[in-house]
Amino acid sequence: MGEFELINKYFTRLGVSKIKGPCSTDWVGIGDDCAFISIPQGTQLAQSVDTMVEGVHFPTNSDPFGLGYRALACALSDLAAVGATPHSFTLALTLPEADEQWLDGFTGGLRQLAVKHCCPLVGGDTTKGPLTISVQVQGLVPSGDCLLRSGASPGDLICVTGTLGDAAGAIPLVLAGETAASCRDSRSKFLLHRYWYPSPRIEAGEWLRINGATSAVDVSDGLLGDLQHILTASRVGAIIDPNLLPRSASLIQQYGNEKSLSYAMTGGDDYELCFTVPEAVANKLPQFMPDGCRITCIGQITPEQGIIRNPDGNELDVNSYQHF
Ligand code: ADP
Ligand code: MG
Repeated sequence: MGEFELINKYFTRLGVSKIKGPCSTDWVGIGDDCAFISIPQGTQLAQSVDTMVEGVHFPTNSDPFGLGYRALACALSDLAAVGATPHSFTLALTLPEADEQWLDGFTGGLRQLAVKHCCPLVGGDTTKGPLTISVQVQGLVPSGDCLLRSGASPGDLICVTGTLGDAAGAIPLVLAGETAASCRDSRSKFLLHRYWYPSPRIEAGEWLRINGATSAVDVSDGLLGDLQHILTASRVGAIIDPNLLPRSASLIQQYGNEKSLSYAMTGGDDYELCFTVPEAVANKLPQFMPDGCRITCIGQITPEQGIIRNPDGNELDVNSYQHF
């Protein structure tokens, strides 16, 4: 199959004529030299790109459907972190061969999430070489209104969406080649599902932007590390109570209390949001966000620049929780 045949067969099914987005009508997508995007007055275009390389970011022979879903989920998570609404994405794909079964699975995974978030594919590039997937997402946000890492102040409460550590708990299973479909026990199934099908917290990000959150970051590298980004950008510190970290029953049952806590503290790949809110906003925080994910307050911002402590005053760092 030639390059153009491949593009027509597999990528146009993700295009603007098939998946409606916020501005689908006034711009051109796949098939010309460029995509054209009109931005409504008073909005900014938020952009982010993520690259995944086979053998580095995912094991060889990974399930293509999961790869497609996860590649778009990771990119959309960056839009969630700034409170942007998804608009469209582009895909730069390097393939070792034109395997139709693989392409069908991969674009099926992309499609599921693209439809969910009304985010069509508007262009890309296809080349031959070691399997590499680059997804660039575009989102819209009211001008000057985005959530940044730099707005946290002493006294703000620190909260997270969902549960933490599940994806890290799945990694031994992922490396062993297990998939959610092949796995029989329900705990492993749950953890694998959390790894392959992360939920970008788009609705939560939008809610937080509208309702006065002061900063946010998505948890891609681990809570302590990602919270540190907020602390650095905002020139503040934090107290975190490890006992308050939201952990799934599956993670605790699979790994026990201590190890599951270490996964929740430092494990990456969950794509939950960590954010700060002033106390006045914290008082009206709902228990659940519009997409159904739970909100948990885990600590508070302090003036002590760059330092994370537990309630006993002991410093928490990535190394103190690196048990794996
Ligand atoms: P050019 O050589 O002019 O850059 P290409 O031949 O690479 O264009 O691509 C032709 C059209 O197909 C373009 O509109 C491009 O955006 C689209 N396209 C190519 N690869 C992909 C892909 N992986 N996903 C989406 N669109 C793609
Ligand atoms: Mg061209």
